[in-house]
Amino acid sequence: MSQAPGSPAAPARTPARTIDLIVVHCSATPSGKALGTGLGSRRRTAAQIIDGWHMQRGFARRPEAVAAHNPELPHLGYHFVIDVDGLLQHGRSLAEAGAHVKGHNANSVGVCVVGGAERDARYTAAQWATLKAVITRLRQQFPAARVVGHRDLSPDLNGDGTPQPREWLKTCPGFDVQAWLASDCQPAPGQIAPRPGMPPQPAGATA
Ligand SMILES: [Zn+2]
Repeated sequence: MSQAPGSPAAPARTPARTIDLIVVHCSATPSGKALGTGLGSRRRTAAQIIDGWHMQRGFARRPEAVAAHNPELPHLGYHFVIDVDGLLQHGRSLAEAGAHVKGHNANSVGVCVVGGAERDARYTAAQWATLKAVITRLRQQFPAARVVGHRDLSPDLNGDGTPQPREWLKTCPGFDVQAWLASDCQPAPGQIAPRPGMPPQPAGATA
């Protein structure tokens, strides 16, 4: 039975599920390197590329949810993806449970930042700025929600979620989310990836 609130023309603003957790992830690809490729009709966004990975892992959104929201992303487990250019790409609707963190999918929102393959991730200034914006908006929408990094959640053993490569789980998203929140969502200089051909951000620079 479909419980998808709203309609394709009017995306639900109040999801018909309880959201008390916001989980930051990384794509576990080299920091600072774009995941989206191609131009024009050959363009594949980061969200589309991760959708392909999640298809291979057997993730599938409910058909009615796919029909109602982002039908070009029938597998993607995240609600948001942020490629190195900082543009926010929308995945699942907030009304849909994600597929991004074992044992916590029903009550959480998943945000994936492209990069983070290293233990200490370096995201672009544009990514940090967008991450701050989307987390700020989600906290306003869900004031009771905790914001955590994937690695902050111990794997729940109820089998509801998705298997994660062990090393990935241990480091994702490659930074201390609590420390970042405590510093008003400002990354440390060493956490900022240079844009290709650009020097690193000077210390104290803001996005
Ligand atoms: Zn993760």
